[in-house]
Amino acid sequence: MNGTEQRRLRRFRAEALQRQGGRCFWCDAGLDAESATADHVSPRAFGGRTTPDNIVAACWPCNHRRGRRTDRKLCLQRGASAEAACQLASGDAGKGGRA
Ligand SMILES: [Zn+2]
Repeated sequence: MNGTEQRRLRRFRAEALQRQGGRCFWCDAGLDAESATADHVSPRAFGGRTTPDNIVAACWPCNHRRGRRTDRKLCLQRGASAEAACQLASGDAGKGGRA
């Protein structure tokens, strides 16, 4: 990860946090700018990109627990934009269909 991507990640995290009303995307724990982490819905390991629709704000335990896995069930409990991101995460990412 280079410096430019880190800056983008910070900005996307702040935007996601605002969008989510200051709560963890996965567990609804209250977050602030300090405690929020940027979580790739479609993990980087599976080709997930650092784009606004692939970044959610998550508490550290959730981010850590998910690790490199995608969890479609969790995704589907969430809103439409997350669902779209999850479809990206759910298996096609490795095929290079959406680069
Ligand atoms: Zn959480």
